[in-house]
Amino acid sequence: KAVYLNGSYLPLQEAKVSVLDRGFLFGDGVYEVIPVYYGKPFRLDSHLQRLDNSLAAIRLPNPHSRSEWRDIFAPLVAADKNQYLYLQITRGAAEKRDHAFPENTAPTVFAMCADIVPFAGTQDGIAAVTMDDSRWRLCHAKTITLLANILHRQAAVDQGGGEAILIKDGNVTEGAASNVFAVLDGVLVTPGPSPALLSGITREVILELAQKNAIPCRESAISAAELNSASEIWVTSSIRELIAVVELDGAVVGDGKPGPLWQTLNSLFQAYKQSLS
Ligand code: PMP
Repeated sequence: KAVYLNGSYLPLQEAKVSVLDRGFLFGDGVYEVIPVYYGKPFRLDSHLQRLDNSLAAIRLPNPHSRSEWRDIFAPLVAADKNQYLYLQITRGAAEKRDHAFPENTAPTVFAMCADIVPFAGTQDGIAAVTMDDSRWRLCHAKTITLLANILHRQAAVDQGGGEAILIKDGNVTEGAASNVFAVLDGVLVTPGPSPALLSGITREVILELAQKNAIPCRESAISAAELNSASEIWVTSSIRELIAVVELDGAVVGDGKPGPLWQTLNSLFQAYKQSLS
């Protein structure tokens, strides 16, 4: 199975990066995860725009134009199954380990495609655990520096949950690897874009679908107390799509099953995907 590394396609086992790579030494890089349905990257422009935003946040020039990215991805993608593209750009391998940016160092560019394994929790929903958001102030950038997210997700898993819902200054930011929606008094609510969270592409699609279908929705803060009183809670991401949270901190959410708005938006989302085939 071929992957892309710095201009070449080669078998995964042969794709090697220097131990001096700043991705390895410092976590100095950004990434994207792009679903591929029916052989077509989903919302590619939104993902490439977010890549530009992430690169700008870490002051790394984009090594490729949009059409070059498309050309890089094309040979990696299979037409007949649901997959995702993973792409990563680091500040490259400098001769000397130094925190400040190196001069004249080419970035390391890596891309691969893998199958999407359907998420087991989709039909029944998952348990989630709230916890204080321990991350930094640049969460709008999709950086490979994911240790805080990993520790949050593992803490949720240790408590029998499928996702951590992060609370900062009394309000929900997002999940460890997802955005959060809550149904409050019949209105679908998700926190607005800010440096405290990643602007998820799945989130963007759900907001569009809700608006198109006259489903009441708004972007505004969700306090921890509001989250506890929500009739539905969902977490959203490219790989898991829309997942209902049916148990929060050990308490049942709604009637303990994915709720009616989840059913509606999940159907709209699946239909939308299919319409692009
Ligand atoms: N927030 C975080 C921290 C994430 O890692 C992700 C993606 N895994 C998301 C939100 C959701 O973004 P998207 O819908 O674009 O996958």
